[in-house]
Formats: sequence, structure tokens, C-alpha cells
Amino acid sequence: MPGYVCAKCKEEIEVNPVEDKVICPKCSHRVLFKQRSDDPDHVPAE
Ligand SMILES: [Zn+2]
Repeated sequence: MPGYVCAKCKEEIEVNPVEDKVICPKCSHRVLFKQRSDDPDHVPAE
């Protein structure tokens, strides 16, 4: 199962499919990117 990456702190998060909310446990940011191996769409511009 693919995980998520926090859009803010870049923390990798394993999401429990039972949970409704997807919130970064580190910074409580609510915008997470799906972690994908071959999708360059979500590469953040530093
Ligand atoms: Zn975070």
C-alpha cells in the first residue's frame, strides 16, 4: 500500500485505510501527497 508524504514537512506517513482523516502526525498539516514511484506531478519546487 502506498503511503503519503506531508506537503509541509515532507514526513513519510503510513495511512490507515480505516481512518477518514489524513493528517501529518508530526506537524498536523492536512495536505498530504500520495507517494508514487513514477508520478512527477507532485515534485515540490524548492
Ligand atoms: Zn508534516
